Amino acid sequence: MTMKTFLALALSLLCAVPAASATKWPGGAKAAVVLTYDDALDSQLDNAVPALDAARFKATFFLSGLKVSAVPRWRAVGAEGHELANHTLFHPCPASKFSADPRYTSEAYTPASMLKEIEQQNVLLTALDGKPTHGFASPCGQTMAGGVDYLEALRAAKLVTYARGVYTSPDDLRADVGRIDPMHVPSRGFPEGVTGAQLIEFAKEEAAGGGMAVYLFHGVGGDYLQVSDAAHRELIAWLAAHRKEVWVTTLQGALDWAKAHPDPQQ
Ligand SMILES: [Zn+2]
Repeated sequence: MTMKTFLALALSLLCAVPAASATKWPGGAKAAVVLTYDDALDSQLDNAVPALDAARFKATFFLSGLKVSAVPRWRAVGAEGHELANHTLFHPCPASKFSADPRYTSEAYTPASMLKEIEQQNVLLTALDGKPTHGFASPCGQTMAGGVDYLEALRAAKLVTYARGVYTSPDDLRADVGRIDPMHVPSRGFPEGVTGAQLIEFAKEEAAGGGMAVYLFHGVGGDYLQVSDAAHRELIAWLAAHRKEVWVTTLQGALDWAKAHPDPQQ
Protein backbone atom coordinates (compact mmCIF):
# COMPACT_ATOMS: atom_id res chain seq x y z
CA MET A 1 0.00 0.00 0.00
CA THR A 2 1.42 3.38 -0.95
CA MET A 3 1.46 6.18 1.56
CA LYS A 4 -1.13 8.01 -0.54
CA THR A 5 -3.50 5.01 -0.52
CA PHE A 6 -2.90 4.55 3.17
CA LEU A 7 -3.76 8.18 3.89
CA ALA A 8 -6.86 8.00 1.72
CA LEU A 9 -7.97 4.85 3.56
CA ALA A 10 -7.26 6.37 6.97
CA LEU A 11 -9.20 9.47 6.03
CA SER A 12 -12.18 7.47 4.74
CA LEU A 13 -12.23 5.44 7.94
CA LEU A 14 -12.19 8.59 10.00
CA CYS A 15 -15.12 9.96 8.04
CA ALA A 16 -17.06 6.71 8.30
CA VAL A 17 -16.84 6.57 12.07
CA PRO A 18 -19.69 8.48 13.65
CA ALA A 19 -18.77 11.11 16.20
CA ALA A 20 -18.18 8.85 19.17
CA SER A 21 -19.66 9.64 22.52
CA ALA A 22 -17.09 10.32 25.18
CA THR A 23 -19.34 8.80 27.82
CA LYS A 24 -18.02 5.57 29.27
CA TRP A 25 -21.12 3.60 30.12
CA PRO A 26 -21.07 1.08 33.01
CA GLY A 27 -19.79 -2.43 32.50
CA GLY A 28 -18.18 -1.46 29.21
CA ALA A 29 -21.55 -1.02 27.48
CA LYS A 30 -21.30 0.74 24.12
CA ALA A 31 -24.47 2.77 24.53
CA ALA A 32 -27.30 3.53 26.89
CA VAL A 33 -30.88 2.70 25.99
CA VAL A 34 -33.71 4.55 27.72
CA LEU A 35 -37.31 3.47 27.27
CA THR A 36 -39.79 6.24 28.02
CA TYR A 37 -43.58 6.00 28.11
CA ASP A 38 -45.90 9.02 28.06
CA ASP A 39 -49.38 9.86 29.35
CA ALA A 40 -49.85 7.28 32.17
CA LEU A 41 -51.74 4.84 29.94
CA ASP A 42 -53.30 1.61 31.20
CA SER A 43 -51.71 -0.37 28.37
CA GLN A 44 -48.32 0.60 29.81
CA LEU A 45 -49.30 -0.84 33.18
CA ASP A 46 -50.85 -3.91 31.58
CA ASN A 47 -48.23 -4.69 28.92
CA ALA A 48 -45.05 -2.58 29.15
CA VAL A 49 -44.37 -2.86 32.89
CA PRO A 50 -44.68 -6.70 33.03
CA ALA A 51 -42.36 -7.04 30.01
CA LEU A 52 -39.81 -4.69 31.57
CA ASP A 53 -40.02 -6.40 34.94
CA ALA A 54 -39.53 -9.86 33.43
CA ALA A 55 -36.27 -8.60 31.90
CA ARG A 56 -35.36 -6.67 35.10
CA PHE A 57 -35.20 -3.39 33.16
CA LYS A 58 -36.05 0.01 34.62
CA ALA A 59 -37.78 2.60 32.46
CA THR A 60 -39.15 6.14 32.65
CA PHE A 61 -42.85 6.99 32.74
CA PHE A 62 -43.96 10.57 32.07
CA LEU A 63 -47.24 10.86 33.94
CA SER A 64 -50.11 13.16 33.09
CA GLY A 65 -53.86 12.95 33.60
CA LEU A 66 -53.61 10.35 36.35
CA LYS A 67 -56.75 8.45 37.29
CA VAL A 68 -57.47 7.80 40.97
CA SER A 69 -58.03 4.12 40.20
CA ALA A 70 -54.52 3.82 38.74
CA VAL A 71 -52.68 5.51 41.63
CA PRO A 72 -51.84 2.29 43.54
CA ARG A 73 -50.41 0.72 40.40
CA TRP A 74 -48.24 3.74 39.54
CA ARG A 75 -47.06 3.90 43.13
CA ALA A 76 -45.98 0.26 42.84
CA VAL A 77 -44.21 1.00 39.54
CA GLY A 78 -42.22 3.77 41.25
CA ALA A 79 -41.48 1.63 44.28
CA GLU A 80 -39.86 -1.06 42.18
CA GLY A 81 -37.36 1.40 40.72
CA HIS A 82 -38.95 2.73 37.55
CA GLU A 83 -38.69 6.49 37.13
CA LEU A 84 -41.90 8.50 37.45
CA ALA A 85 -41.57 11.86 35.73
CA ASN A 86 -43.50 15.03 35.00
CA HIS A 87 -45.69 15.47 31.92
CA THR A 88 -47.93 18.23 33.41
CA LEU A 89 -51.34 17.73 35.02
CA PHE A 90 -53.60 18.49 32.04
CA HIS A 91 -51.34 17.87 29.04
CA PRO A 92 -51.82 21.24 27.29
CA CYS A 93 -51.05 21.05 23.56
CA PRO A 94 -51.60 23.52 20.69
CA ALA A 95 -55.27 23.65 19.64
CA SER A 96 -54.20 22.55 16.16
CA LYS A 97 -52.91 19.20 17.48
CA PHE A 98 -56.29 17.77 18.43
CA SER A 99 -59.60 19.01 19.70
CA ALA A 100 -59.46 19.71 23.41
CA ASP A 101 -61.24 21.81 25.99
CA PRO A 102 -60.03 25.32 25.01
CA ARG A 103 -59.08 26.01 28.63
CA TYR A 104 -56.47 23.27 28.38
CA THR A 105 -54.82 24.17 25.11
CA SER A 106 -51.30 25.62 25.35
CA GLU A 107 -52.65 28.87 23.84
CA ALA A 108 -54.73 29.36 26.98
CA TYR A 109 -51.65 29.23 29.23
CA THR A 110 -48.89 31.66 30.09
CA PRO A 111 -45.35 30.57 30.98
CA ALA A 112 -46.21 31.37 34.62
CA SER A 113 -49.38 29.24 34.65
CA MET A 114 -47.55 26.41 32.87
CA LEU A 115 -44.77 26.43 35.48
CA LYS A 116 -47.35 26.48 38.25
CA GLU A 117 -48.95 23.39 36.76
CA ILE A 118 -45.61 21.62 36.39
CA GLU A 119 -44.87 22.45 40.03
CA GLN A 120 -48.19 20.89 41.09
CA GLN A 121 -47.50 17.75 39.07
CA ASN A 122 -44.19 17.54 40.96
CA VAL A 123 -46.14 17.54 44.22
CA LEU A 124 -48.24 14.65 42.93
CA LEU A 125 -45.14 12.73 41.83
CA THR A 126 -43.45 13.24 45.20
CA ALA A 127 -46.59 11.94 46.88
CA LEU A 128 -46.33 8.86 44.65
CA ASP A 129 -42.63 8.06 44.85
CA GLY A 130 -41.23 10.11 47.73
CA LYS A 131 -38.52 11.65 45.54
CA PRO A 132 -37.78 15.37 45.92
CA THR A 133 -37.03 16.07 42.25
CA HIS A 134 -38.28 14.83 38.87
CA GLY A 135 -37.53 15.01 35.18
CA PHE A 136 -39.93 16.45 32.61
CA ALA A 137 -41.24 15.88 29.11
CA SER A 138 -43.33 18.58 27.47
CA PRO A 139 -46.79 17.64 26.15
CA CYS A 140 -46.79 17.13 22.38
CA GLY A 141 -43.04 17.83 22.40
CA GLN A 142 -43.53 21.59 22.29
CA THR A 143 -42.83 24.23 24.92
CA MET A 144 -45.10 27.15 23.98
CA ALA A 145 -47.55 28.70 26.44
CA GLY A 146 -49.71 31.55 25.18
CA GLY A 147 -47.33 32.02 22.27
CA VAL A 148 -44.21 32.26 24.46
CA ASP A 149 -41.59 29.54 24.84
CA TYR A 150 -41.43 28.61 28.54
CA LEU A 151 -38.39 26.33 28.45
CA GLU A 152 -35.87 28.93 29.66
CA ALA A 153 -38.26 30.03 32.42
CA LEU A 154 -38.55 26.37 33.42
CA ARG A 155 -34.77 26.04 33.48
CA ALA A 156 -34.41 29.19 35.59
CA ALA A 157 -37.11 28.03 38.01
CA LYS A 158 -35.19 24.75 38.57
CA LEU A 159 -38.47 22.87 38.82
CA VAL A 160 -37.25 19.84 36.87
CA THR A 161 -33.96 17.98 36.54
CA TYR A 162 -34.15 17.69 32.74
CA ALA A 163 -36.53 18.18 29.83
CA ARG A 164 -36.93 15.50 27.20
CA GLY A 165 -37.05 17.02 23.73
CA VAL A 166 -37.44 15.66 20.25
CA TYR A 167 -34.99 13.64 18.23
CA THR A 168 -34.01 15.09 14.88
CA SER A 169 -31.09 12.98 13.66
CA PRO A 170 -28.92 10.07 14.84
CA ASP A 171 -26.13 12.57 15.51
CA ASP A 172 -28.22 14.13 18.27
CA LEU A 173 -27.67 11.10 20.43
CA ARG A 174 -24.06 10.52 19.49
CA ALA A 175 -23.01 13.64 21.26
CA ASP A 176 -21.18 13.25 24.53
CA VAL A 177 -24.20 12.62 26.75
CA GLY A 178 -22.45 14.23 29.71
CA ARG A 179 -22.34 17.47 27.76
CA ILE A 180 -25.79 17.65 26.21
CA ASP A 181 -28.09 20.35 27.50
CA PRO A 182 -30.30 18.57 30.06
CA MET A 183 -33.18 20.83 29.00
CA HIS A 184 -32.92 19.45 25.44
CA VAL A 185 -32.55 15.69 25.80
CA PRO A 186 -33.40 14.19 22.42
CA SER A 187 -35.83 11.29 22.06
CA ARG A 188 -37.35 9.39 19.18
CA GLY A 189 -40.97 8.41 18.62
CA PHE A 190 -42.14 5.76 16.17
CA PRO A 191 -45.17 5.52 13.87
CA GLU A 192 -47.98 3.09 14.66
CA GLY A 193 -47.29 -0.26 13.07
CA VAL A 194 -43.54 -0.06 13.72
CA THR A 195 -42.02 -3.55 13.79
CA GLY A 196 -39.82 -5.06 16.46
CA ALA A 197 -36.94 -5.11 13.96
CA GLN A 198 -37.32 -1.37 13.33
CA LEU A 199 -37.30 -0.67 17.06
CA ILE A 200 -34.20 -2.81 17.50
CA GLU A 201 -32.48 -0.99 14.63
CA PHE A 202 -32.51 2.27 16.63
CA ALA A 203 -30.68 0.61 19.55
CA LYS A 204 -28.18 -0.92 17.12
CA GLU A 205 -27.50 2.47 15.50
CA GLU A 206 -26.83 4.03 18.86
CA ALA A 207 -24.69 1.11 20.03
CA ALA A 208 -22.55 1.76 16.96
CA GLY A 209 -22.36 5.48 17.73
CA GLY A 210 -21.74 5.11 21.45
CA GLY A 211 -24.49 7.48 22.53
CA MET A 212 -27.86 7.15 24.15
CA ALA A 213 -31.03 5.89 22.45
CA VAL A 214 -34.11 7.42 24.04
CA TYR A 215 -37.32 5.74 22.89
CA LEU A 216 -40.63 7.59 23.19
CA PHE A 217 -43.70 5.35 23.49
CA HIS A 218 -47.38 5.94 24.11
CA GLY A 219 -49.73 2.95 24.01
CA VAL A 220 -48.22 -0.53 24.14
CA GLY A 221 -50.65 -3.06 22.72
CA GLY A 222 -53.56 -0.70 23.44
CA ASP A 223 -54.64 2.93 23.89
CA TYR A 224 -53.29 5.22 21.12
CA LEU A 225 -50.16 5.95 19.07
CA GLN A 226 -49.43 2.37 19.91
CA VAL A 227 -46.65 -0.03 19.26
CA SER A 228 -47.87 -3.61 19.30
CA ASP A 229 -47.24 -5.69 22.37
CA ALA A 230 -45.32 -8.13 20.14
CA ALA A 231 -43.00 -5.45 18.69
CA HIS A 232 -42.35 -4.05 22.16
CA ARG A 233 -41.58 -7.53 23.51
CA GLU A 234 -39.24 -8.16 20.59
CA LEU A 235 -37.29 -5.03 21.50
CA ILE A 236 -37.14 -6.03 25.18
CA ALA A 237 -35.94 -9.52 24.23
CA TRP A 238 -33.19 -8.09 22.03
CA LEU A 239 -32.08 -5.69 24.75
CA ALA A 240 -32.08 -8.53 27.28
CA ALA A 241 -29.89 -10.60 24.96
CA HIS A 242 -27.45 -7.69 24.54
CA ARG A 243 -27.07 -6.50 28.12
CA LYS A 244 -23.30 -6.25 27.83
CA GLU A 245 -23.47 -3.98 24.78
CA VAL A 246 -26.32 -1.71 25.76
CA TRP A 247 -27.13 -0.43 29.22
CA VAL A 248 -30.89 -0.15 29.73
CA THR A 249 -31.68 2.42 32.39
CA THR A 250 -33.94 5.32 33.27
CA LEU A 251 -33.44 8.72 31.69
CA GLN A 252 -32.40 10.23 35.02
CA GLY A 253 -30.08 7.26 35.55
CA ALA A 254 -28.35 7.73 32.20
CA LEU A 255 -27.95 11.50 32.61
CA ASP A 256 -26.64 11.13 36.17
CA TRP A 257 -24.13 8.50 35.09
CA ALA A 258 -22.88 10.56 32.14
CA LYS A 259 -22.46 13.63 34.33
CA ALA A 260 -20.60 11.70 37.04
CA HIS A 261 -18.24 10.03 34.54
CA PRO A 262 -16.89 12.79 32.29
CA ASP A 263 -14.42 11.98 29.57
CA PRO A 264 -10.95 12.38 31.13
CA GLN A 265 -9.59 13.33 27.67
CA GLN A 266 -11.53 16.57 27.61
ZN1 LIG B 1 -48.07 13.24 26.13
